[in-house]
Amino acid sequence: MKTLIKNGIVVTADDEFKADVLMDGEKISCIGKDIQVQADKVIDAEGKYVLPGGVDQHVHFSFTYKGSKVRGFETSHAAAVGGTTTVVEFVNQVQGKGLVESIEDYRKTDVDGIAMVDYAFHIIMTDPRDEVIEEMPKLVEAGYTTMKLFMAYKGMFFHAGDDAILKALMKGKEAGITIMVHAENAEMIDVLSKQLIAEGKTEPYYHAVSRPPVVEAEATRRAIYLAELAGAPLYVVHVSCKEAMEAIRDAYTAGQPIYGETCTHYLVLDTECLAKPDFEGAKYVCSPALRTEEHREALWEAINKNWLNAVSSDHCGFDWKEQKHMGRATSFADIPNGTPSFQNRLNVLWTYGVCEGKISRSKFVDLACTTPAKVVGLEGKGAITVGYDADVVIFDPEYRGIISVENNLEDVDYCPYEGFEQKGRAETVFLRGNLIVDNGKYVGQKGQGKFIHGKPFGVSYDTL
Ligand SMILES: [Zn+2]
Repeated sequence: MKTLIKNGIVVTADDEFKADVLMDGEKISCIGKDIQVQADKVIDAEGKYVLPGGVDQHVHFSFTYKGSKVRGFETSHAAAVGGTTTVVEFVNQVQGKGLVESIEDYRKTDVDGIAMVDYAFHIIMTDPRDEVIEEMPKLVEAGYTTMKLFMAYKGMFFHAGDDAILKALMKGKEAGITIMVHAENAEMIDVLSKQLIAEGKTEPYYHAVSRPPVVEAEATRRAIYLAELAGAPLYVVHVSCKEAMEAIRDAYTAGQPIYGETCTHYLVLDTECLAKPDFEGAKYVCSPALRTEEHREALWEAINKNWLNAVSSDHCGFDWKEQKHMGRATSFADIPNGTPSFQNRLNVLWTYGVCEGKISRSKFVDLACTTPAKVVGLEGKGAITVGYDADVVIFDPEYRGIISVENNLEDVDYCPYEGFEQKGRAETVFLRGNLIVDNGKYVGQKGQGKFIHGKPFGVSYDTL
């Protein structure tokens, strides 16, 4: 099957130009002016942009909080209609099980044959016994080349101490595994939370008060010191505040291989969302917490200047009514963390980034598609390049709409961007040459997504 996209403007991470794009089978086979070929299908993309399918390197489809589970891969077509064709899921190591085994058991029951976009995995190390550290190189053989550790969440089974992080950095470096951290100081949060609750300050807003920027800045700096000692690269996920960003920027500009991402919600939502009445603030409970304008402006500058190199969704599909309400009778500490957001990641970044003149179209492609693929070692993903997978989005910049839960396929009962204006949309989406979104509607099939084998020594190792 050959599909020819004619007359569109191709956007890459460092350029844009008018060209035709030919997809042959699952690959991009030719990019050029006025391609003359007998194609099975020809699409006129005049006035539209031809973008690589988005790569969302930070999603949660398996996260469980106090027995309550988020929406899984059965909702992954929501990524497709948002223009994302590859997602990277964080899987918790199951206590007592190995790292590879934990991912593969989950894959068998919950992912393979269900996913509607391509996928890869990060393992979250929760049980850092010596034999588990020794197992790390086996992850690479199986195609899992990134690992996260949680510095936050004191007392939870997935919390990691500095010793575990240091050992993971040391072992990971030998095997080319990129170590990621959720950087917040668990002890600081524990003390502040207990004080607030004792004072009767239990509303969702106090979630943000219990984890101020200094909590994130301290853990980020500590993780950078641990990476320095190990001589290893470090990737800080979901950076939300100016001080943490500056710690990464300063280390990176001093030559240390320290990198980080931010997320859509930290770029556009405010701490004040948590103060909404009638427990609506719980919809915005995520960690790190939402910040103020000063921090948002610092993050926009950081992504523009490459101090943070990706924008992810940190999608986490908990319902507001049943699941977030777990904290209504008690306190903010019992509200499951996270926001559902992977369908609108590109819509928000385009509307509030590109259309507002904060980032260029090439920077948009770089942050949302190209660099995330390189962080995780997903060769053949994230760019319009000959020989790459034909994950292609025809993006209509003239579309106008309002973001609402009504149009969401995420199967969550709210949307954190409810009522936001949307400019532009993924009109047509191809996954490895297969049409999966047509005129903004999902037309693909369950199980069409496939596992992408990650390569070790991702982009975070480039300067090492
Ligand atoms: Zn996350």
